[in-house]
Amino acid sequence: MNRIYLSKRSQHLYWIKDLLDDKRLGEIKIINNKTQYIIKEKYHHQNINTEAKLILSSGDSGWANYWHDFIGFYNMDFIDYDLEDYDFPHFSEACRLDSCNKDMFNREVFLHPRAKLAWQRMQKFAKIDGINLQIISAFRSMEYQKELIQAKLDKDEKIENILKVNTLPGYSEHHTGCAIDIGSKDAAILEEEFDQSPAFKWLENNANKFDFYMTYPKGNTTGICYEPWHWCFKLEKTGLP
Ligand SMILES: [Zn+2]
Repeated sequence: MNRIYLSKRSQHLYWIKDLLDDKRLGEIKIINNKTQYIIKEKYHHQNINTEAKLILSSGDSGWANYWHDFIGFYNMDFIDYDLEDYDFPHFSEACRLDSCNKDMFNREVFLHPRAKLAWQRMQKFAKIDGINLQIISAFRSMEYQKELIQAKLDKDEKIENILKVNTLPGYSEHHTGCAIDIGSKDAAILEEEFDQSPAFKWLENNANKFDFYMTYPKGNTTGICYEPWHWCFKLEKTGLP
């Protein structure tokens, strides 16, 4: 069953989007007060990979009633939650990934090859200064993010609460393979107090030299809370092609 939501693009156009993989399933156009639903057939879950569209036109009595018929017909679970303001930046999944030894919990982790080289250099230089940097989390796939949220939805957690701590698939910087949640022995893990640790002080003074930047500093305007542990390798800042 798809969990879908409407993303308002303009006064007369809504995109119908799958909540969990951010795919556009179709759109609703309101033309002269008549509603047109345009649904891509490949999303009817019949494994028909075609761009053919199904067009339903409503009468002229607004679209709300038709909308409910429509989602009933397609067995979709409409998330009745206003996501209009959900405009975090969008991130694509890394096209290349390298295995990067183990994280703090001995799990294999993956990074974009460039980010991996920069991370390993940074880790080595930190070590010389007596700082032990470790990966808590690196690449995360859209599929993983989807499962994470699905598991919470299955436990009847409300979507608005889930979205306070997890981004929707497609909106996590970890998809790029360039973002790392960094930890260190004896430092608070994924807590604000991480910024009191020697590891954080070292990162503050040195990470930029290795092209790592804090994405969510204090007072950032992205809508995501302060995350002193989350650092991202910025390829564009290296000056390399
Ligand atoms: Zn992170």
